[in-house]
Amino acid sequence: MALYITDECINCDVCEPECPNNAISEGDEIYEIDPALCTECVGHYDEPQCQQVCPVDCIPKDPGHVESEAQLMDKYERIMAAQA
Ligand code: SF4
Ligand code: SF4
Repeated sequence: MALYITDECINCDVCEPECPNNAISEGDEIYEIDPALCTECVGHYDEPQCQQVCPVDCIPKDPGHVESEAQLMDKYERIMAAQA
């Protein structure tokens, strides 16, 4: 399941450099996560890195993007292949 950023985001920019997939970017009003690039950090880390650093805890899982561990690993491998 990809994660998303809620409107509680304070635009602190702490999460963006922590994402191993470059899935986080500054949106028009708050920071955003591209669900096509978010693997919940599967393939890189045991825990979602953005959630670990967000000072206001505004990065929940997105029920609109439900994915299994295997699907997240497939996504990770596709992202890695595209970057190679
Ligand atoms: S969970 Fe990981 S891959 Fe997804 S946006 Fe956060 S840091 Fe990036
Ligand atoms: S760390 Fe949290 S508050 Fe800061 S930009 Fe990212 S989502 Fe927004």
